[in-house]
Formats: sequence, structure tokens, C-alpha cells
Amino acid sequence: MKADEVSALLCGMDDEWLFEEARTVRREVFGRDVYLRGVVEFSNYCVNSCLYCGLRNPNREVNRYRMGTIEILRTARLAFRSGIGSVVLQSGDDFHYTSGLIGQIVREIKSAHDVAVTLSLGDRRPEELRFWRDCGADRYLLKIETFNRDIYEKMRPGSSIDDRLRRIELMRRTGYEIGSGVITNLPGMTLHGMAQDIIRLTELDLDMIAVGPFVPHPDTPLGWEPHGDVQIALRACALLRVMNPYANIPATSALSSVAPGARQRALFSGANVLMPSVTPDVVRGHYTIYPGKNSDALMFTDRIAELKTMIRAAGFRPSSAKGFSPRRNNGQGSARSETCDQYIGKKKRRQIVAHQRHNR
Ligand code: SAH
Repeated sequence: MKADEVSALLCGMDDEWLFEEARTVRREVFGRDVYLRGVVEFSNYCVNSCLYCGLRNPNREVNRYRMGTIEILRTARLAFRSGIGSVVLQSGDDFHYTSGLIGQIVREIKSAHDVAVTLSLGDRRPEELRFWRDCGADRYLLKIETFNRDIYEKMRPGSSIDDRLRRIELMRRTGYEIGSGVITNLPGMTLHGMAQDIIRLTELDLDMIAVGPFVPHPDTPLGWEPHGDVQIALRACALLRVMNPYANIPATSALSSVAPGARQRALFSGANVLMPSVTPDVVRGHYTIYPGKNSDALMFTDRIAELKTMIRAAGFRPSSAKGFSPRRNNGQGSARSETCDQYIGKKKRRQIVAHQRHNR
């Protein structure tokens, strides 16, 4: 899809076509399945000072916690037993957890349960990324947040967009399934900029793509900025689905923080993954990357049961599969990805023709 077409659709030029097409592509590739990923938010310590994030190092209002190995393993077991086929270990950029410690946790989870393990630990060293892959980690999630260099470097003081992109390429070579994504409506971002983000994300050829609206956190320098527009975030989700048929796309929790019910709407806008927090109740309320995150008062089992009810009520089916991206098809390699490229090429041509016809 061309840049001006992406911009026009992101503005709402043709919501009817966009959302219908996203639903069709989602149904063709994933049927009614919604993959569940249980997120273990094991530490809210962070060395970084990202302007948007409530866990930023200078924020003294956060009750900081770190979970121990046994607690992390127990949480992963609980997630597995409640029918979740994929565990995400997420934290602030917390180097208290050495490569050896993370490697040991990954090995133990992989040997105890038949689950996929995703790491989302921020900017770690290349040798650590390789080591964890050898320990059995299946995926790494590292959001680019935005491809706009000025905004990126302002929002993430001291960090470089080129470094982040290099890490993503290294992960690809190391054999991880790669997840990345953006925050829509970050302060200073234009519609044209967001359209560029969608195009650049698509060029990265990702296995998983997460897009969520900016949610202002009162204890950050962006506390008084407006929150991201839900409809724009949903359109971004739909555009990414149409342009990336095989990628796993989560309905992000940032959507629900901005508007109740928006996560369900994302399932109708091409999303096929939900990522409930499975962090123990005693600490999960402190993982405040943005307000509203982990703020419900439900106990673990009730939360998962409620989520599954919501999925079924929306006409979908909660899946306990590991949920690898079908573009890889369990690592069958280039033959498969060639077929995927051809499929996407044909599909895109069909969509563009249909869209042009529709707008005549
Ligand atoms: N330290 C890890 C994990 C960060 S938290 C890392 O840097 O990769 C996970 C994601 O939450 C971030 O990548 C960012 O996209 C999102 N996030 C953080 N603060 C946010 C905010 N205020 N609004 C919307 N999304 C936010």
C-alpha cells in the first residue's frame, strides 16, 4: 500500500472497507482463534528515563519490586495450568537479572512446560540475546515505539534508534520470532508520521506487531499531554493486519486504559492475540507503565476466566496453542516464506484493485 493511501485510511477516509478487510484477512489466516500470552511482569526497576513510561528511573512514586526465580517459575506454572500456551517475561531494563539468571529461568520454564517463551527485557547485550536463544527462548519483543528519529531520541534520552534496529536484526539472525511495535499519538507525532511508522513496521517483516495508544502517566514529564486517539490506534491495527496477514497482532492493554471495551474492538480490527498480566496479585498493581494498567481488583483465576468469557462473547475462541506466526510455520524456512511473500503480494494486489474500484 502506498504512503498516501495509508495516511488516508489512517485519517478515516474509508473505515468500512478497512475494518471489513482486516476482519477478512484475520479470519482467513487465524480463523476464530485468539492466542493467549501470559505476561509475567517480574520487575519494575528500570535504568532508563523514557519520557512516556511510569517506570522511568527518576520516578520516585513507584513502589519498586523484583520477583525471585521461584516466584517467576511458580507464576509461569500457574499461567500454563490455566490454559495459556505462551509466557512473556517482561520487566523494565533491569540488569540486576544477569544473563545467567534469565537463561536459567528460561531453561526451567521450557523443560517444565510445553510453552513458548517470549522475552521483553529491553535493550540487552547481543551476546545475552544469543545466549537466551540457546537456552530455549522462542521470541523477543522490542518495540521501536516510533521510527521518527527526533521523537524517538527525545522520548528515550540517551538511546539510539539505530541501536534498537540493529538489535532487531540480530534477533532475526539468531532465530527468534521477532515482535516490535509502536505507540500511536506520542506527543509531537503527526498522522503522516504514524503512517510512516506503519509502513516501516511492515518493511521490518515481523512475526508480531503491537500497536497501542499513548497513555499519559501523571508522574512523567508527559503527564498533561492528551491520550492517544482510540480510533486511530484501531485503524493502525487494521492497516497492519491488512499489510501483514501472517503477523500475530495483540489487542494491547493500553487500548483498554484509554477506553473500556477498546480491546474487544481490536479483535474486530484484525488483532488475534491477548496478553493478560499473570503477575502475582501482591505486586501487579505496581507495574504502572501507564495508569489503568493492572488496575482491576480481580484475582488471577477470575481475571483469566473473565477474559475467556469476553473472547467467547465476541464470537472468538480462546486458544492455548503456542501461537507461532504462521509465516514461519515452525521454521520450515525460506520455501515457506517465499509462499508467504507470494500470498501477500497477490492479496495486496487484490486489495488495492478492490479499494480503487470502491473509491471510483
Ligand atoms: N523495558 C522493556 C519493556 C517496556 S514496557 C522495553 O523497553 O522493551 C512495554 C511497552 O509499554 C513499551 O515498549 C511501550 O511501548 C509501552 N508503554 C510504556 N509506556 C507507555 C505509555 N505511557 N503509553 C503507551 N504505551 C506505553
